[in-house]
Amino acid sequence: MIPVSFLKDRAVALFGLGGSGLVTARALLAGGAAVTAWDDSPVSVEKGAAEGIPTGDLRAADWSRFAALVLAPGVPLTHPEPHWTVKMALQAGVQIIGDIELFCRERRRVSPRSPLAAITGTNGKSTTTALLAHLMSAGGRDAEIGGNFGPAILGLSPPAPGRVHVIECSSYQIDLAPSLDPSVGILLNLSPDHIDRHGSMEHYAQVKERLIAGVEAGGTAVVGVDDDWSRAIADRAEARGTRVVRISVQQKLADGVFLDGTDLVESVRGERKFSFPLKGIGSLRGAHNAQNAAAAYASARALGLAPEAIAAGMASFPGLAHRMEQVRTLGKVLFVNDSKATNADAAERALTSFEDIFWIAGGKPKEGGIAPLKPFFPRVRKAYLIGVAAEAFAATLGDDVPHEICGTLDVAVARAAEDAAKMTADAAATSRLQAAATRLQTAAVVLLSPACASFDQYRNFEVRGDAFRALVKALPEV
Ligand code: ADP
Repeated sequence: MIPVSFLKDRAVALFGLGGSGLVTARALLAGGAAVTAWDDSPVSVEKGAAEGIPTGDLRAADWSRFAALVLAPGVPLTHPEPHWTVKMALQAGVQIIGDIELFCRERRRVSPRSPLAAITGTNGKSTTTALLAHLMSAGGRDAEIGGNFGPAILGLSPPAPGRVHVIECSSYQIDLAPSLDPSVGILLNLSPDHIDRHGSMEHYAQVKERLIAGVEAGGTAVVGVDDDWSRAIADRAEARGTRVVRISVQQKLADGVFLDGTDLVESVRGERKFSFPLKGIGSLRGAHNAQNAAAAYASARALGLAPEAIAAGMASFPGLAHRMEQVRTLGKVLFVNDSKATNADAAERALTSFEDIFWIAGGKPKEGGIAPLKPFFPRVRKAYLIGVAAEAFAATLGDDVPHEICGTLDVAVARAAEDAAKMTADAAATSRLQAAATRLQTAAVVLLSPACASFDQYRNFEVRGDAFRALVKALPEV
């Protein structure tokens, strides 16, 4: 826990008593602040009170006495409409901040030289955060990981010399962290997302840019330059005098970190300083993960790790649950849990990463269904359809891809495992050549990449992925 000492003896309003809100309240109390906490959900208020957090209806509070409103990141600051606490704070001239801002101010107070790596982007934040923390730990550094991914930031160990904090920041959290000043700021990519909460793409990009613009003096900005928005942000940072390391998986860079075939290359003024193969690292399959790997590499370099140590760390990265997670190999068949792929865009990344796929898809469908995935249908040997989307997906697959409607995940896993085992065995028997080819490609994959939300059958994508993993683990050995 990181006691927030700079608000000692000050009155602080805190709104949002979810998981991170409770941690933040405790950190404020530990630092000596006089907290009044509230939530729109009476259950959450009760829970906070039961944990000894002072609660009080902020509608009835005297706002003139508050030094700050500490807001949970899920609460609307601007769009679609400011939350009522935001309006009350603005009226009273009270600053509105979040837990990452509290951390930054505390870091400047207690250990300004201890490094902070802050990661944002539309996609790949959690993977990059986990990978960078893994690289730093594998390289012998003391690394704390948290923020939007993992524990709430104020639940971590405090900033201290030699300790690096690797923090995932959502755009909502950046919005609530006006003095965010990372030693290494990482922007992976930008594409339209959460526009409902930000009003427009311009505003969304502006919020993300603040993480890069805030990079402290002497720090480094690591920016993916494969989209126009991020490229412009990199250029502006450089023009302001910030050290910028560009990363790309689409083009070779004279200066920066890029993907060349399946190798990651670090180049400085046109000279290749270091390169190593990403191929064979199962937890980092696909171009999207190459982008994450490039960002983590550049950041670990900026934090002082040697290239060789980084390459070694990449090879031992276990990957994240539910994101192309390798669950098990049975015979020649690999089972992969990509439950996080809740839309066609995400499922596309998994489909492009494998060649011979027994595909489990379906759930609560998104607009457009799986029609955008047609170019990848030739990679699918057979599809096993579940949930509300099954009929519609069957219609889209039509005669192009053999498929069956399984309804539920247990049926789909059993049927896919059976077919994959049989078909790969047949292939081996039919042709030794084909068998060799199959071996080279890690053979076939049973892939749960639903291209759907889970809510028709599961509480969330994690529960769906856990169910898949348990079913796969329970399959008999071949
Ligand atoms: P986030 O934390 O930003 O939601 P994750 O690391 O959890 O991202 O990855 C979620 C999904 O997003 C992955 O399963 C994959 O489909 C996709 N993804 C991951 N990294 C990238 C990337 N760099 N670019 C595009 N898509 C990505």
